[in-house]
Amino acid sequence: MTEQPCPCGSGKKFKACCNLYLSGQAYPKMAESLMRSRYSAYAMGNLAYLRKTWHPETYPGFNADDLETQWTRLEVIKSKAGLKKSVVEFKAWYTENDQEHVIHEISLFKLYKKRWVYLEPLPSWPQADQ
Ligand SMILES: [Zn+2]
Repeated sequence: MTEQPCPCGSGKKFKACCNLYLSGQAYPKMAESLMRSRYSAYAMGNLAYLRKTWHPETYPGFNADDLETQWTRLEVIKSKAGLKKSVVEFKAWYTENDQEHVIHEISLFKLYKKRWVYLEPLPSWPQADQ
């Protein structure tokens, strides 16, 4: 598996990309890398990593059954890095009953205990003060 292309679509091998984060060898320094690694965690059903990278205030407490979705592709559309908050807009494709679906989200990430974590989806891009 580690020789395979990374699920996040970076073009790198998994072992040289999100596996560094999913295995705990490193922690993403940028919100966009965190977002990509969280996509890989969804794609691989790594619940522990999703929990670790979710802000405790908004963590939904889901279980492994919620990770059955077949994720097929990720596209990061736009990201904006801030000092304490970052925003990443992405599309993620998945298949269900042989149909392809897409999720389009603008995600808010926050610095929490000096690490980027996922906070919540936003209805639209925030104003420039973010
Ligand atoms: Zn990756």
